[in-house]
Formats: sequence, structure tokens, C-alpha cells
Amino acid sequence: MKRSNMDLIDPWGSIEIENYEKLFEEFGIQRMDGLVDKLPCKPSFIRRGIIFGHRDFERIVEAINKQQPFAVMSGIKPTGPLHIGTILTLREMIFFQKLGGVVFYCIADIEAYEDNGIPLEESEKIALDNVVDALALGLDPSRSYIYRQSKENDVKDLAIILARAVTLSTMEAIYGVRHMGLYMSALIQVGDILLPQLKRFGGPKPTLVPVGIDQDPHIRLCRDLAHKFKEKYGFILPSATYHKIIRGLDGSSKMSKRNPMSYFTLTEDVESITFKLKNAFTGGRPTAKEQRTLGGEPEKCPIFDLYKFFFVEDDDKLLETYWRCKTGDMLCGEDKAFAIEVVTSFIKEHQERRKAFIDKSREILNLD
Ligand code: SF4
Repeated sequence: MKRSNMDLIDPWGSIEIENYEKLFEEFGIQRMDGLVDKLPCKPSFIRRGIIFGHRDFERIVEAINKQQPFAVMSGIKPTGPLHIGTILTLREMIFFQKLGGVVFYCIADIEAYEDNGIPLEESEKIALDNVVDALALGLDPSRSYIYRQSKENDVKDLAIILARAVTLSTMEAIYGVRHMGLYMSALIQVGDILLPQLKRFGGPKPTLVPVGIDQDPHIRLCRDLAHKFKEKYGFILPSATYHKIIRGLDGSSKMSKRNPMSYFTLTEDVESITFKLKNAFTGGRPTAKEQRTLGGEPEKCPIFDLYKFFFVEDDDKLLETYWRCKTGDMLCGEDKAFAIEVVTSFIKEHQERRKAFIDKSREILNLD
């Protein structure tokens, strides 16, 4: 029997969304329609529908347009160097920070331990590397609160207090049967999302959580608990935007650390990235002759995904690439050479930029 999306949304597992449309019906995720035009500017990830859905995003749009305080909260698990798929979340955080939000960047080290078995001492070093990337991408540290879950007592206290309203069957219904550590880390993430609304940070305020759709279970749990504890804390239900998941370079449904050929990282050697791109799966045909006749399938192509998600900002250029592929005017070899050029020049510039942010990142994380 074919599984539904309902079975497939697992924040700690693989994800395969065949039909984003179904998510609107199954989970009550709202469409972006109408809200996009109310934003003062629209980067490509919004124009192209990569952010495809939301919960209560109108609250954030209103705060942006009325110049009222709001928070942008998201977490990154320090499990290794940031791969190209992860930077979408960072770009969203930076975008909303520029529109007036104060960023709360959670280093999800407890989750990295519970889900991936990475000890806290080890994740500390990885987190440093990740924070350097975030700053080099444009995150403004003066309008950010960057913290480790394991060191943030308010987050852990919130998890303990809110846990009183959660039963084991609720956790099983949302996450399936998992070990207790994962349930605890899910509750700690609820604490992370609600942290910006504590008195210490100015009290209740609209809070946006920009995430991949695979993180929706955490959002649902958090909104439920924010509602239950509204009277005590005055919480405003957190808002969320959801982005699509970029395919792996090997054609798999998601870039995965388990398969190094499916992704590249921001700190990887350009030779290694070039090798991966040269060997990437494409939407091309088995022979050049067939591709000239039938055209390629950019809709199925991870190389085209890279352009659409990250590397071709100009919509006309993206459209031109789409049609040159679709009509067979361009073959994969030619296009991959272009992909290698744009990706490696971005990576080289990024790696150069990183050098200026190492000391600042050490200072933020209180590392000697
Ligand atoms: S021509 Fe480019 S976009 Fe089209 S299938 Fe080949 S690599 Fe993908």
C-alpha cells in the first residue's frame, strides 16, 4: 500500500514528499497566496515557491510592515560542516533579520546527541564551524542571540514545565515510537521556539520559525503547548514558513550525510565538489541524440535544483536554462561545466569570507 505524506513527515528520518499540495489538506498548512505581495521584497526562494506554505505567517508580515518587534527562530544541529541544503534556512533567517527580526539561532546540540550520538564536546567544535558559516553568509551577530541548547537553562526549564501537558500517546501520535531522548529533545525544541517570548527577551512577540517541511511535527507540538500555556506566559502562537527539500546530487529525495555523493559542504575542497557535480545524477537522456530529440527533464534534475534554490538569482536566466534543457538545445555536459563554475566560484569566495569571522564566532560561543 502506498504511504501517505502523513507517514512520511519525520524530523529525524528521511523525507519523500511527492505531492506538496496534499500537505495543505492533511496538515492544515496554509498557502502563501496573497501574503507574498505584502512583503517589501521577494528573494528568489519566495518568488519561486521554494517557501511554499506557512502557519500564521500573516502575523509576521504585519509586524514587518508596521515595523513592530518580531523574532526569527531556527536551529541547526551541529552534526558536521554545513551542507548546501542547510543554507536555505540561514538565508531565510538573514532575510527576515534584514526586514527587522531579531534572530535566535539555536545550536541544537542536545538533539545532535539524542539523534546522532554526537557528544557535546564534539558538537561544540562543529558548532563553531557552523557559526562561522552563518556569519560569512551575512547573519548580523548584533541582532542575533546565538546559543547552545545544553547551556541555555531557560530552554530546559520551559521543556520541563511544558512537559506536564504532554502524554506519551501524544508524542507517539506525532513522532511514532522513539527513544525517550528524542521525545525530550522535541520538548527542548519547544523551549527553543518559545524562548524569544520570555520576559528576559521582552515578552510575548510574533515569532517566525523558517524550516524545512520535515520539521513540521515540532511546530505542531509547539503551537499546541503555546496554546495550553497561553494564560501563564501570554504566548503568541509561533508562526512558521516551510520550504521544499532540495534533492540529493545522486537523485535521492534529500541530501543525506549518509551518502557523501548526495551533497557538498561549504568548507569542502573545490576539487571534491567538482568531482561530485561531474558525477551528479541529471534529468538528461541516455544518449546525446535522444536528448537533442526529446529534450531533458529539468524538473527531475538536481543540477537544475541547485540553480533554482541557490545559484541563479536572475529569473530570466533560470527560465532560459529551463527551456534550453527542455528543448534539447543544451546537453548535460555543457550545463554541468556551467554548474561547476558557478558553484565553485561561490564556494571559493565563501571560504575566503569565512576567515574574517572565526574570532567573532569563538567570542560568541565563549571558546578560548
Ligand atoms: S541540461 Fe542541465 S538542467 Fe537539463 S538535465 Fe542536463 S544537467 Fe539537468
